[in-house]
Amino acid sequence: MVERQLRRRGIEDERVLAAMEEVPRELFLPEDMRDRAYRDGALRIGEGQTMSQPWIVACMAQLLELKGDETVLEVGTGSGYAAAVLSRICGEVITIERFESLAEGARQVLSELGYDNVEVRVGDGAKGAPDRAPFGGISVTATALDAPPAPLFEQLAPGAALVCPVDRAGRELLMRYRDGQEEAIVPVRFVPLVADEP
Ligand code: SAM
Repeated sequence: MVERQLRRRGIEDERVLAAMEEVPRELFLPEDMRDRAYRDGALRIGEGQTMSQPWIVACMAQLLELKGDETVLEVGTGSGYAAAVLSRICGEVITIERFESLAEGARQVLSELGYDNVEVRVGDGAKGAPDRAPFGGISVTATALDAPPAPLFEQLAPGAALVCPVDRAGRELLMRYRDGQEEAIVPVRFVPLVADEP
């Protein structure tokens, strides 16, 4: 996976590659999906949600340009796999999931693996985690309509990146936002970000 799907397709951050090598992707999947864990695609994890393709997980982690001591916010815990990868390359991860069942599953695997620098919360990640801000990076793993939720920008440290898929007029693009600048990275397909009313 690391050689064929990641390195050959432009993932070059050695810390990200090492994290992708280290984290056992299959353990974050329902048992009947485990034989497909290292395929080049997204996989079903229950509640109508998916674990992203390995390349997307690595690409989003690389785009954050982490040094190693940051607290990172992830919106959309899902299986907990991407949070596990992030936890290997930063100081701490706060990850938020809407579905209690997915959050509980993620908590269990992360704890079994001893990844104790990840805190899994249940709730509307569009509101972020103001009690732990500012974040040295924010990764949103569900598609926002037009732009990422405003509270996430307010919780971003100066110079830090927010990576988020955004739907613009029906076109889904992975975007990176930093210091008031935005950059379109690649067309993507994610599940929608379902935010509560403000
Ligand atoms: N990062 C995940 C992984 O590694 O398995 C993949 C996440 S999946 C593509 C997107 C997740 O975002 C889903 O589990 C979905 O329930 C969650 N989600 C959608 N809207 C949300 C919101 N407002 N707050 C928190 N989680 C949300």
